[in-house]
Amino acid sequence: MDPFSRDAHVTASYPVGVRLQEADGEGENRRWTVHLDDGAAVEAVLYRGDSLCVSSQVGCAVGCPFCASGANGLTRPLTLEEMVGQVDAVRALGHAVTRVTVSGVGEPLHTRATLPFLEHCRQQRIKPSLTTSGGPLERLREAIHAPHNGLTVSVHAGTEPARSRAVPRGPALGPLFEVLEEELPKLSRSRLRKIALAYLILDRVNDGDDELDAFARRARPLGVWTHLYAYNPVPTSAHRGVSRERYERAYERLGAAGLRVRMSCKARVEPNGGCGTLIASARLVDRDRSRVQ
Ligand code: SF4
Repeated sequence: MDPFSRDAHVTASYPVGVRLQEADGEGENRRWTVHLDDGAAVEAVLYRGDSLCVSSQVGCAVGCPFCASGANGLTRPLTLEEMVGQVDAVRALGHAVTRVTVSGVGEPLHTRATLPFLEHCRQQRIKPSLTTSGGPLERLREAIHAPHNGLTVSVHAGTEPARSRAVPRGPALGPLFEVLEEELPKLSRSRLRKIALAYLILDRVNDGDDELDAFARRARPLGVWTHLYAYNPVPTSAHRGVSRERYERAYERLGAAGLRVRMSCKARVEPNGGCGTLIASARLVDRDRSRVQ
């Protein structure tokens, strides 16, 4: 059987090839460096005590300039066992993981293990979701109909120039929205509620009124929620977020344009494991072996 097929089952005992090292940090999130057998490392974060954000690649090829995860490019995708191992290792510490989101280091649709991983989570009665920049588009089509509990497409722009700046190696807005316009009407109303768009607002990149209006024109016909994300500063990026006032005005503008919009939740803006802050390392960083679990 193809180990990456949707029907693949994980038969090895867990955790496999995964060791956790808890990171220092304040706040309610728990963040771990996930050490892999070949010396590479990624990160995983537990939100609210039961929702685990896992990584799908060591690094990322998409190169979003606001994100620390892809700052050094892509080293390799994770295997199915390494993705499952993150969940099982955190569960082995006594945490009742009931939700998993593939929103950590890496572009989930660049990893063949992601869709089998969603299936595995469902078999384990864990609700899985994912966040993707949208490509490859054929895999996005498949993922939309996969047994997930939520799929968020990171758009971050209303025009193609802003899209190329914010998501440099993701699909362009034209073909991305063509796929969404074709696939979303095939979903039931309850499944459509599981789909969302994300717009991370950055100073002088995509915060202009024209840009927001252009995004609203594309997004409104889809009838899905938009998550308006605030930026979490990372040392690898010179980009800046916008003021709270500007953020709230953008929220109101998108709402007035007919979109259903949600703001960033507290867990996603915490410095300890907030969106875009997770890192990958191609080599083992063994800071303190006594804390490796
Ligand atoms: S935001 Fe996601 S797709 Fe973009 S570089 Fe970071 S991990 Fe990759």
